[in-house]
Amino acid sequence: MSQDIQLDRVTMRFGDFVAVKDVSLTIHAGEFFSFLGPSGCGKTTILRMVSGFNEPSEGVIRIGGQDMAGIGPNKRPTALIFQNLALFPLMTVWENIAFGLEVRGVPKAKRRKRADELLELIALPDAAEKRVSELSGGQRQRVAIARALAVEPKVMLLDEPLSALDLKLRQHMRAELRAIQRRTGVTFIYITHDQGEALTMSDRVAVMSQGVIQQVSKSSEIYNDPATPFVATFVGENNVFRGPVKAVDGDWAVIETNHGLLRGRNRNGLKTGETALLFARPERLSLVNGAVGAEMNRLDLTLGHVDFEGSFANLFLRNGNGQAGDQAGRGVIMQMSNDGGLPRLTPGEKLPVGFAAADAVILP
Ligand code: ATP
Repeated sequence: MSQDIQLDRVTMRFGDFVAVKDVSLTIHAGEFFSFLGPSGCGKTTILRMVSGFNEPSEGVIRIGGQDMAGIGPNKRPTALIFQNLALFPLMTVWENIAFGLEVRGVPKAKRRKRADELLELIALPDAAEKRVSELSGGQRQRVAIARALAVEPKVMLLDEPLSALDLKLRQHMRAELRAIQRRTGVTFIYITHDQGEALTMSDRVAVMSQGVIQQVSKSSEIYNDPATPFVATFVGENNVFRGPVKAVDGDWAVIETNHGLLRGRNRNGLKTGETALLFARPERLSLVNGAVGAEMNRLDLTLGHVDFEGSFANLFLRNGNGQAGDQAGRGVIMQMSNDGGLPRLTPGEKLPVGFAAADAVILP
């Protein structure tokens, strides 16, 4: 039977405070699924409900079709991994990994064999006899994962497991975790406020804000086709232009901004007269020469300054009349890749900038 995890209208209240609000979604067996959102948005609360440490105030959680209400954490097919790992520092690595098997009365020879298999899996085959205190942070992280996998959970629940590691190691561990998930086929539910982590590792991502799911999609869709203004600005950089909808034609709309009329995809079906936000990614903007066709938007801007970032540069641009445009004093940002073609630019210079209507998303 498929071990899908289903949240059906799940709400969690602490007193009057609603930490998770009416969440419905299905996480498929074998999927790498992340919850992404800022601190306090309710991610950990969801994980605690799936693992059985909290019961929802309302709604049902099912694993493999079975209602989990009243089923305690150690009776569920889940294993939870925290940021602070709670490994036993004085035991050897293999004893740590086999701990859950020992509790279950598995004989020593079998435990050792299973620990060795898992050490292969986490790419630490020679670490069996080491003590945990002799390992690096990333190695400990992998041992904790092996220990959780030893008891063959159907679902691994990981709560910001990489946040204590330094940047290089974190990036390395992203690939490791993804590989371990692929090799085992175990469902991973991963909690993070780090969009890079969520987008690189996951099959699908749920973006959360204030207890509410904003969007559940593949990483590329979260980035290219955000469903709400929150997703458009929380994930990656975005330029935002505000104004009323002037015209709608099919899947497209035109809004009136103080940069003139701008056209984009009318993603959520706005109607003429409604106030809208148009989002355009900095890397989708480019310098244009002369007039542009109807499928392109044109902005007449003035260069404020350039931030050189190495492989690319950010151009900070303002309205021709010197105003900051719609961007709360920040102006418009355009990203140019440093592929040998970065032009010589002077602050104060007038720059016509374009972006395709197909690259712009219009949201309420
Ligand atoms: P972080 O990334 O900081 O861990 P999070 O998205 O995981 O954040 P949660 O830990 O799920 O957030 O908390 C969501 C909200 O619920 C927070 O405002 C938190 O203060 C509140 N909360 C969580 N647990 C409790 C509790 N036991 N009693 C009261 N309020 C709680």
